Amino acid sequence: MRKVVMHAPRDVRVEDVERPRIVEPTDAIVRLAATCICGSDLWPYRGADEIIRPQPMGHEYCGVVEEVGSAVRDVEVGQFVVGSFFASDGTCEICRSGYQTGCVHRQPGAPEGAQAEYARIPLADGTLVATPGMPDADLVPSLLAASDVLGTGWFGAVAAEAGPGKTVAVVGDGAVGLCAVLAAKQLGAERIIAFSRHADRQALAREFGATDVVEERGEEGIARVRELTGGLGAHSVVEAVGTHESMHQAIGSTRAGGHVGFVGVLHDVTITGDDIFMTHVHLHGGPAPVRRFLPDLIDRIWKREIDPGRVFDLELPLEEAAEGYRAMDERRATKVLLRP
Ligand SMILES: [Zn+2]
Repeated sequence: MRKVVMHAPRDVRVEDVERPRIVEPTDAIVRLAATCICGSDLWPYRGADEIIRPQPMGHEYCGVVEEVGSAVRDVEVGQFVVGSFFASDGTCEICRSGYQTGCVHRQPGAPEGAQAEYARIPLADGTLVATPGMPDADLVPSLLAASDVLGTGWFGAVAAEAGPGKTVAVVGDGAVGLCAVLAAKQLGAERIIAFSRHADRQALAREFGATDVVEERGEEGIARVRELTGGLGAHSVVEAVGTHESMHQAIGSTRAGGHVGFVGVLHDVTITGDDIFMTHVHLHGGPAPVRRFLPDLIDRIWKREIDPGRVFDLELPLEEAAEGYRAMDERRATKVLLRP
């Protein structure tokens, strides 16, 4: 089969490899209907993250179950399934509390990569959620979005306690930030402020439910949010970037007693005692337990209540993965869908 492998920064190739096989009796093999490139894949692409090379890429996936191990009970061959970037058993106390990404048996969701024709998914019963049937082709991008960016944006909004009567601000206008806007709207937020400088992303943010757009960043951005909220700051702020600057923009935009949901993978962020002691801000985040939300998200997508697949603004054959990485690196695309 064909699979995407990163050999070095900016060196992404599509190679012939053996099809994955069942390794553990709890595994499933999924024939991927679609996969995509994550913003976090750009860190190793730019040389900012050390990885073992050559590194198989990809952790977002949906597709049809091709084979299951002997211990798999709930997932069946032929089902269309959605999973996420960590595999979880679904049975431990942490999983049952809704923090599947903290599962005591947590492991990579697609250990040999998901930018491929087939992927091996560990702990299939705990990790995969089947759709009610075979999806129409136009639903596939949204189901793929559920596997990471939607689930992550949704957790950001939940962690920030977005809800009726709340003003929610979202730092980051990548796919996760845009999905956090969509989530805040679905969760009933009254006002949604999107930080964005890109006209196309602003437009999608407004379609997803943003009521206000702030182009300024840093202290100026914080001042704009305070201006829009009677000097108080937002009740709920989603941080969907992961830099020191964006995290502080999020904390600074939050009112006393408000909540920050941080879901951008943090890189070199320093938070001092003063940052959290004097502000009365709640901080909650981390790798999103996407699995917690998947049944609800699949249901909303199936009923066509939400269309998170709109975040994919470039679709390429898997063979052209290298062009997909370039397009995201050069910001010609927000999120690239790859068709195996
Ligand atoms: Zn668990």
